[in-house]
Amino acid sequence: MNWEKLADFLELSLEDRALIDSKPNFILNLPKRLAEKIEKGNLKDPLLLQFLPTLAEKVALSSYVNDPTEDNTFCKSSKLLQKYQNRALLICTSACAMHCRYCFRQNFDYDQQGTIFEKEIEIISEDSSIHEIILSGGDPLSLSNAILENLFQRLSNIPHISRIRLHTRFPIGIPERIEPAFLSILKTIPKQLWFIIHVNHARELDDDVLAALANLRKLGIVLMNQSVLLRGVNDNIVSLKELCEKLVDNGIVPYYLHQLDRVAGSSHFDVPIEKGKWLISELRKQLSGYAIPTYVAEISGEHSKTPLF
Ligand code: SF4
Repeated sequence: MNWEKLADFLELSLEDRALIDSKPNFILNLPKRLAEKIEKGNLKDPLLLQFLPTLAEKVALSSYVNDPTEDNTFCKSSKLLQKYQNRALLICTSACAMHCRYCFRQNFDYDQQGTIFEKEIEIISEDSSIHEIILSGGDPLSLSNAILENLFQRLSNIPHISRIRLHTRFPIGIPERIEPAFLSILKTIPKQLWFIIHVNHARELDDDVLAALANLRKLGIVLMNQSVLLRGVNDNIVSLKELCEKLVDNGIVPYYLHQLDRVAGSSHFDVPIEKGKWLISELRKQLSGYAIPTYVAEISGEHSKTPLF
């Protein structure tokens, strides 16, 4: 859907349309079913804010850069990153179900040479200190079942790999992706599987999404969620509490609440750390401990994510 069709569909006023960036570097990408959940005529809808390119992205600040997490520094190959001990991250694809305006990897120099991971499998096989592989991107569920099955099999054949983790936002945009053939493939994987989904607002978790995620849970797959603290989207106690409760009510562990990675063009999403700490302290008063995500920042060169509170 291009921006004009989306603006028509959402019945945005001429005044609101003037705030849209019609030619963003990171193109608009929003599945229709997500657009259908956005309130008509409301440019401040917390779902729309996450996906609509606006002129606010043109604000250039020196502390907001193309590669805020310095991914390029940690590449072992064009598709393999390793920042932390005992785990490595495979950049499986550049494709996603949707484009989130705050994405820290939106400028990543993706290797577009197909979906062959020979070099990466070789590096992983030769390094017995790596016990966990994170499939990321882009979104790994953008890949076909055949490619994913092959990748799962090859990773499962490496004796020192005990866990495979998928970082995905796909079920939020296109829950139909969790279909029977994909579930059948997951059943055959002999390694422990973890799915880390990415949800920022409770309204992203509708009945179809929750049903798709429940099908993963039925296979014994551990489900966790990471959110990004975003101004206007979830930087208030009502939204965060509702999100955390909905996650735990559906057997999904609220894992991380990320401080925004300062990617160029995202300064309008920034929430001060002091406010983030206050939000977490309020959540602690109102929810069980297991329902509180760890508030973290990614600081390049550190040995793990850095807890902020
Ligand atoms: S789904 Fe994930 S990788 Fe894709 S644009 Fe959103 S945050 Fe970035």
